[in-house]
Amino acid sequence: MRLVGILTGEEGDPVALENAAAQGRVILVCEHASRSLPKALGTLGLSDEALASHIAWDPGALGVARLMALQLDAALVFQRFSRLAYDCNRPPESPAAMPEKSEIFEVPGNAGLDQAARDARTEALYLPFRDSLSRLVKSRIAADRAPVIVTIHTFTPVYFGKPRAVEIGIVHDSDSRLADAMLAAAGRTPGGYDIRRNEPYGPEDGVTHTLKEHGLANAIANVMVEVRNDLVREEAGQRAVAGYLADLLVEGLTSPQVR
Ligand SMILES: [Zn+2]
Repeated sequence: MRLVGILTGEEGDPVALENAAAQGRVILVCEHASRSLPKALGTLGLSDEALASHIAWDPGALGVARLMALQLDAALVFQRFSRLAYDCNRPPESPAAMPEKSEIFEVPGNAGLDQAARDARTEALYLPFRDSLSRLVKSRIAADRAPVIVTIHTFTPVYFGKPRAVEIGIVHDSDSRLADAMLAAAGRTPGGYDIRRNEPYGPEDGVTHTLKEHGLANAIANVMVEVRNDLVREEAGQRAVAGYLADLLVEGLTSPQVR
């Protein structure tokens, strides 16, 4: 099957940019916002249950990111298609960009993709996302706006059958300035969440691609936030978490390291 041009015109742009004219420093990113699959990919051979699960998207992440965008007057960039079609937090050469297996689910439609099929998905889904975010970051830097990148993710409360206690992960690669500042702010805010550094994932898990590509490469502060998805299934939970994270960012951004 030839997959060049896997998106039809009706499916629209794979990348969405909201609040482009925002005045705040924060650029919010949501690589796993959607569970929609391009029509050309069908169901990838997956059940409805699998396609509704965390392997297809980060449930609640877009809701949290949108609420944070309002509170922080931040721009928001997100991918409109499922990470199973292309995981925008992975580079094209990574097998995890089009995973053949995700947690306990085999993904038949991703098995044995040839280079042409991989290139078609990369061109249709990843490159527009990467380029849109890159343009935004570079335009903010050029305007001396001191941008910072904050990516918003959610994770499953039970992974390979094991419950996870951590509620919010503050994840960083080699630039920990913003993570340090947010964790310090969290330490001054009693009654918050079980919040931890580089849990449940860290750079060794390959989850910091966006941070490296757009944060480290531009020498601007950056952080990835992981929220346990049972906390943000409903709007009330999304509001609570978004408010908490926005407060940590507002306070964190006053730190001399990221000012
Ligand atoms: Zn994610």
